[in-house]
Amino acid sequence: MKVHEYQAKALMAKFGIPVPKGGVAATPDEAKKVAKDLGGSVVVKAQVHAGGRGKAGGVKVVSNPDEAAEFTKSILGTQLVTFQTGPEGVPVTSVLVEETMNIVKELYLAMLIEPSTRSIVVIASEAGGMDIEEVAATTPEKILRAVVDPTVGLQPYQGRQLAYGMGLAPELVRPAADLMLKLYKLFVEKDCSQAEINPLVVTGDGRVLPVDAKLTIDDDAMFRHKDLAELRDAGQEDPLEAQAHDIGVIYVRLDGDVGCLVNGAGLAMATMDVVTNVGAKPANFLDVGGGADEERIRAAVGILLSDPNVKRVLVNIFGGILRCDMLARGLVAAYEDTKSTAPLVVRMLGTNAEEGRQVLSESGLNVTIAHTFNDAAEALRG
Ligand code: GDP
Ligand code: MN
Repeated sequence: MKVHEYQAKALMAKFGIPVPKGGVAATPDEAKKVAKDLGGSVVVKAQVHAGGRGKAGGVKVVSNPDEAAEFTKSILGTQLVTFQTGPEGVPVTSVLVEETMNIVKELYLAMLIEPSTRSIVVIASEAGGMDIEEVAATTPEKILRAVVDPTVGLQPYQGRQLAYGMGLAPELVRPAADLMLKLYKLFVEKDCSQAEINPLVVTGDGRVLPVDAKLTIDDDAMFRHKDLAELRDAGQEDPLEAQAHDIGVIYVRLDGDVGCLVNGAGLAMATMDVVTNVGAKPANFLDVGGGADEERIRAAVGILLSDPNVKRVLVNIFGGILRCDMLARGLVAAYEDTKSTAPLVVRMLGTNAEEGRQVLSESGLNVTIAHTFNDAAEALRG
């Protein structure tokens, strides 16, 4: 789950990280009021779950409260398109109004879970700001990293090493290292999968603090962070992915035309490989899980079919706890609900597979029954 910049900064502040003063606003009047309270010039920032706002016109430094209201008015209710969003963009429903910083230097700091080392890795660079992707591509030596030993956590010496490596003045090394330790604590306690501060700035008055903040919390850990659930902004998510989240299935929308319904993440990935191997493209990743019942399957297939890009559907199910006949009835019900005519290729094995195939062949749907993985793929070729 991603959270907004203002929410990430509030969490950081709770963990003792210094952040700029500011407030969130959902109307031009609110923005004006926050700007007035801050006094002087402020920066107004569109709150969306995507980076690249600066380059897309979503961040503006203004010199008085009226200008803050004006810019807020111009951006609220629009879809912001950045290089990190799809062409349809993401809706701007609030802005963060913050004191401006006298920025002397823009650094980069991030933490993420690295599968290959099975550890949290801290990434830091002296060359932060809006062109960090370019820095990574052309001058990778400017990107520093420290792997954290999970048994002892991030060590102060690692923070100092990174801070020196970022070229910070000696008196800023300790505050920067301290900030990293606090961010690490937040990362672990809140089960983050990613944290990114870009830029982390050095100000004219000698402070080190985040001017931008992104946090992603591991969805699978949300059950133990009930307090964080309210930070979710479903309006920022793909509508179909948000619906799938609500019924408890794992669905990721992709850009092909073959809707895929599979149980088990491993089988789902193998299915996507097979679809791709015959020259077709999956429209989604969908894992209904082992224990799905008929209603959940009906709802999940309904979501899959409501994607207008889906022109045909591949069902690849291994019936263990999930009974194939129940799955077939859910499938037929979803086709009836959506009045879809998308041709269906079904491969099902395991518990009650024969009954399941029977339900499908009597359903009147345009269905091809495949008996092996290969047969299923061949039915999609061309
Ligand atoms: P992003 O483009 O979505 O990553 O948004 P950021 O929050 O990183 O803002 C983009 C850029 O706006 C930053 O890299 C800064 O250069 C600039 N910026 C943001 N806040 C301030 C500020 O208070 N003062 C100044 N001068 N620039 C700012
Ligand atoms: Mn940024």
